[in-house]
Amino acid sequence: MKYLLPHSTGVKTIQFSVSERASSPKARGTVLSAQDLTKLWDKQGYPVTPESRPLFHNLNEILPDGPTPEQQACLDLYETIRQHVQAPIFTQENPGLARAWFGTRLKTAGYLFNDREAIIVSITDRIPTRTLFHELSHLKLRWVDRFPQLTLPDPRRNKPVEKLLNNELDHLEFLPREFEIFGPRAREKWTKEYSQFPSTRGPIDKALAFPLVAIRSLLAQHVLLPPHRKKINQTARRLELQSEVDAFVKGMTKLSPNRSDMIKFALDQFQISRSGAKIRTESPDTGKPLIQTIV
Ligand SMILES: [Zn+2]
Repeated sequence: MKYLLPHSTGVKTIQFSVSERASSPKARGTVLSAQDLTKLWDKQGYPVTPESRPLFHNLNEILPDGPTPEQQACLDLYETIRQHVQAPIFTQENPGLARAWFGTRLKTAGYLFNDREAIIVSITDRIPTRTLFHELSHLKLRWVDRFPQLTLPDPRRNKPVEKLLNNELDHLEFLPREFEIFGPRAREKWTKEYSQFPSTRGPIDKALAFPLVAIRSLLAQHVLLPPHRKKINQTARRLELQSEVDAFVKGMTKLSPNRSDMIKFALDQFQISRSGAKIRTESPDTGKPLIQTIV
């Protein structure tokens, strides 16, 4: 028995393929066998297969007991995205690509996207349900909610800040929902993530220190519980950045959720020139993103 993914015509070859495995016919295919589908969630609740393939479709039919609430949350997100985006989302086990693209700290998976296509690239053949929910949340913000993304010139110098703003402003939007579904352990994970500061590993990169502390303080204020904010606040004080950080959090909070205005404000606060900076909004209707310069 075969399941045909909806809207499967005109799917392009994956843009990001680097491994042989990724360019196999399976990676390009849009038809999944029932056997393929059964591998997507295992008994431990890990939903993904080792090979690159379209993410699940019609999962209820192959899970006799039905998905767990957490799995259902992933499916709901996926369905919402599929209503807006024609091409299927792929998953791909590719540790080399994942580490090269997302850095050595990546423990599970990250997403890559191009216009209306995306691949969730993972380190191993298992993507925890929470991670899948997390990556799908990023994609929903891009395609469904159409939150703009920043592109800065001079990537050698500006890439870290560009990445930081795009990623963490997304987190500001959807981490509360992630905590709602996955409970205190998800909140603990992000508290730990935001509390670690590079100062313990050699000198702080001055250019990145303020953006890092400022954006983490913003997240702490809105997403974490008061006791969890302590360590982040201490870092701001230790670096003598408390008043600048407070002004940043206040200004960003006032502009939220207007992403374009938040990006402009953040660049000014970080003393990064707006010249050459662009804001890109995905357009799932035409496949052509709207790219505007920041003024
Ligand atoms: Zn993320």
